[in-house]
Amino acid sequence: MKKSDNELGMDREINRRDFLSGTSIAIAGAVLGSGNVAAQASDAQADAQTTVPGSPAVDQSPAQETNYPPTRTGMRGNHPGSFEVAHAMRVGATWDNPQETGEEYDLVVVGGGLSGLGAAYYFRKAMPEARILILDNHDDFGGHAKRNEHMVDGDQVIGYGGTEFIEGAFTYEGLELLHDIGLDAEVYDRANEDYNFEARRRGLGRAVLFDKKTFGEDRLVVEEPGSDEPEAWTEWLKKTPLSENTQRDIAKLYLTKEDYFPGLSVEEKIARLRKMSYQDYLLDVVGVHPDVIPFFMRRGTWDHNGAAGIDTLSGWGAYRYSNNFPGLQGLGLGEPPPRDGIPGLKNPFDRLHFPDGNAGVARLLVRWLIPGSLPGNTMNDSVRTRVRYSTLDRPDNDVRIRLNSTVVSVHHRGERARSNAVDVTYVRDGQAHRVRGSTCVMACNNSIIPYLCPELPEDQKEHLHMAVRRPFVIAMVMIRDWKAFERLGVSRIFCPGDYFEYLHLDGYSSRFGDYETSRDPDEATVVRLWGSPIAPGLPVRDQSRAAREEMLDISFETFERGIRDQMARALGEGGFDPARDISAIFVNRWPHGYAGGANDLYDPDWGYDEVPWVLGRKRFGRIAIANSDAAAVSMTQAAFDQAHRAVQELVTDVIRPEFQYPWSERT
Ligand SMILES: Cc1cc2nc3c(=O)[nH]c(=O)nc-3n(C[C@H](O)[C@H](O)[C@H](O)COP(=O)(O)OP(=O)(O)OC[C@H]3O[C@@H](n4cnc5c(N)ncnc54)[C@H](O)[C@@H]3O)c2cc1C
Repeated sequence: MKKSDNELGMDREINRRDFLSGTSIAIAGAVLGSGNVAAQASDAQADAQTTVPGSPAVDQSPAQETNYPPTRTGMRGNHPGSFEVAHAMRVGATWDNPQETGEEYDLVVVGGGLSGLGAAYYFRKAMPEARILILDNHDDFGGHAKRNEHMVDGDQVIGYGGTEFIEGAFTYEGLELLHDIGLDAEVYDRANEDYNFEARRRGLGRAVLFDKKTFGEDRLVVEEPGSDEPEAWTEWLKKTPLSENTQRDIAKLYLTKEDYFPGLSVEEKIARLRKMSYQDYLLDVVGVHPDVIPFFMRRGTWDHNGAAGIDTLSGWGAYRYSNNFPGLQGLGLGEPPPRDGIPGLKNPFDRLHFPDGNAGVARLLVRWLIPGSLPGNTMNDSVRTRVRYSTLDRPDNDVRIRLNSTVVSVHHRGERARSNAVDVTYVRDGQAHRVRGSTCVMACNNSIIPYLCPELPEDQKEHLHMAVRRPFVIAMVMIRDWKAFERLGVSRIFCPGDYFEYLHLDGYSSRFGDYETSRDPDEATVVRLWGSPIAPGLPVRDQSRAAREEMLDISFETFERGIRDQMARALGEGGFDPARDISAIFVNRWPHGYAGGANDLYDPDWGYDEVPWVLGRKRFGRIAIANSDAAAVSMTQAAFDQAHRAVQELVTDVIRPEFQYPWSERT
């Protein structure tokens, strides 16, 4: 039965920050939809209409500090105040008379994510005396590497609102950065030998939450089999509310050994799969019942970077992630291609998991760039410690990080070919300011660069516009204990019909000094809800655009109600009471999430010299382009690689030649 707002705990005094156009709002009765944007457009409109003025938020966190962004609960990620200026620019707003700050830097970096922080690091390595300014539109640095922190019943609990793992095949320079800032794989491995975190050691498994709207009934079915247990699916499916036909067809997908492309060579099969969505493969080639599709539509969404749901994932892409997408095993295609086929050095940090994910890396980078900003000097002592945000932008710093500052214009002073500086204008608190850089690295997402640099060649702007990042919403919920998970025997729940299609306990071992992830079900911990909104039927990039627009319209109140309701449905039988057990909610919106590359279904087979992100990232005078879009790879390694390349371009092609062959009138 549907729970009332009181039963869900909507009246409980957790933090609620919900600002729309600077006004605190509350939304009565609005509900979170299925994550299917097309189906939800009307819900979003209804939300907008039901907004009424509410009372200002009260911060209940004992650890509160006015300028300590990680403890801000409510809407995080792209929080209110972070994106409005950029969106106004998109529809033609201009800031013509910026205040001159008189500040001059050797490098100005646009964007303080891992790529922007990495660019500052590489620049300082090349020129240790350099003065650098990093500008970011958020109230915290790190971009997707986002720390969420809260005191739950007196215990500090830390979560990751975005990037989790130090992933990717690294170059020497990438690994050197990680060593320099103090990452120590041996120290981590020693402390976390029992890598199989408590939840796994306790044998907690996977489950599926079927929801009433999609499947006719709310039902949690535990002990979901893996793809390596094909025989187990038939019995398991009998426990679900799926129709017999649907059960039969899903079981068949796991059990089949049939070659659905008889007579074709492996190359021909791959060619067919590359131009056919996995959804079409299931419906038209295997011939499953259409009711099978919702079960698979949003499986493994964090894996397939270039796709939204299975309607935009090619059959060949699905084969690569075949642990989630069965039915292709009889085609005789051999081993699936590696997920991360990029050549590189062995990454000793690929298991290292900070409790705040890669925000731990961002914080150590900031400690390296701005001495004294993060007290202490080891990886372990960094985890509990607070960054001193007041130190980030001191005038006597060599490296300054200026937050809440959206860059709106980057252009060469005077004629580009002879220019010796780049003017960078940013808006902060409604006021435009101008700083000057000898050089500039654009470590923001590619799609905004054409608006910031209108002087770029038109074809380069088009290439940059091709980078449409995949949007996500990551909710971090701090709970007082995880006894319900233990009682149900689950740590991860797939929720195919809900806005958040995955709900899971923090499943990794994070023991750093005296901080460790909870190993006792009586203790507080974090639960992550992963939402990948989609708009089935639209081309892949349009799905991302639609989902992005929609997520910015959903209020925190609506998210909160949806989260409480989903957790009650998922965990209620284990005794979970959202009103009692939830201590804090962080909703991290990422409208510009994963960088995405080519998608076989929508893109031509580009040759290396035609690839849009390679053409788009071309240096333009004193402006170089970093960020993970420049590699079209949504990984830490790509963010650092591109930062290194962009800095090298400036150092070797602009700065050094200038000193080797000085033009007399410019010196
Ligand atoms: C939910 C989520 C989970 C992820 N998990 C992982 C993971 O586990 N492992 C992994 O390797 N990768 C992961 N990634 C991929 C992640 O994107 C990259 O690893 C990397 O952090 C990207 O860094 P970036 O600096 O290129 O981009 P971003 O992190 O997006 O940083 C760019 C920054 O520039 C800012 N900016 C944009 N425009 C302007 C402007 N006009 N003015 C000022 N600032 C601006 C942006 O707001 C942002 O803060 C994840 C991504 C998401 C969204």
